[in-house]
Amino acid sequence: MKEITCNIHLHSTYSDGFGTYSSISAAAIAANLDVIILTDHNVWVKGLEGYYENAGKRVLVLTGEEIHNQDRYPQKNHMLVLGAEAELATFASQPQDLINAVRQHGGLSFLAHPDEMALKLVNETDITWVDWNANGYTGFELWNQFSELKTVSRTPINLLRNVFFPQYIATGPAVETLTRWDKFLSTGQHLAVICGADAHALRYHLGPFIKTIFPYRFHFSALNNHLLLAEALSGELEHDKQLIYAALRKGSSFIGYDLPAKTTGFSFTITSDETVANMGDTIELSRGATAQIHLPYPAEIRLIQNGEEVIHQFGKDRLSNSLVKPGAYRVECYCEYLGQKRGWIFSNPIYVI
Ligand SMILES: [Zn+2]
Ligand SMILES: [Zn+2]
Repeated sequence: MKEITCNIHLHSTYSDGFGTYSSISAAAIAANLDVIILTDHNVWVKGLEGYYENAGKRVLVLTGEEIHNQDRYPQKNHMLVLGAEAELATFASQPQDLINAVRQHGGLSFLAHPDEMALKLVNETDITWVDWNANGYTGFELWNQFSELKTVSRTPINLLRNVFFPQYIATGPAVETLTRWDKFLSTGQHLAVICGADAHALRYHLGPFIKTIFPYRFHFSALNNHLLLAEALSGELEHDKQLIYAALRKGSSFIGYDLPAKTTGFSFTITSDETVANMGDTIELSRGATAQIHLPYPAEIRLIQNGEEVIHQFGKDRLSNSLVKPGAYRVECYCEYLGQKRGWIFSNPIYVI
């Protein structure tokens, strides 16, 4: 498998972001990303996908969309739509109709920031997902950096610190979303997860000074999706787009918080009867079934099955554990950074049946 880094959920000047496609792609190239997926609000921007080059390096830029019902009050139910190759914002008023339309167009639908808190200090409401009867979507945005800013900025001092030093924000996905995900997984559902920057690079004027809050370059060094592709990217847009969306649909990926330490090289496999399953795969339980986890650096590792902890290990860069039960197995890793324990790696599940 070929590992690539992919940053998802970026807003540009086509909605409420401050970067253009070319400036965002230049920041992604500087951060050595392989792919970025822009998702402007309620507009599917056509004709800007492709490989962008700068200083002898390149990044693949893809265009999805973040769709919500603009007439709804309060605002809820944001959905990231990828690969539908059509404008589907007209379905926004009925989430189930939107999910169905995305499926009919062969696209992927991820519930964006499904659980988040309001940030009353700056009049930001919570934009959670509330239509939990809806079904048939691809998965969740498990960890959203802008949502987490709302969660961890409970006092004016904390908010100021997080705005000027965003490296203090991230600690992990919302506990409610993790719990929800485990609940769905334990009923046998397959639900892939991604992380999202929700980048806007907002500009604030302080007298004669302009301060950019959370520049794209910061997001690109922080929360990234690490995709395992069946083959290397070829440089051909349509071919590579299919590979990337196939990996995201299946959950052949993990979420890496790359700021404390690069997560590239993480692996989680389950071997059973001489067959090896990767993240997103389904495998039959047989004698000798064993989970194997490798980290690029020693850290705290949790192996979880249907929401229950199987084993918890500290300070090692590998773990092997025999498996005796079927279920959805996933891995969480934590590290210390800036004086605090922080989420570092969250894998997609391997489904053992
Ligand atoms: Zn949103
Ligand atoms: Zn957004």
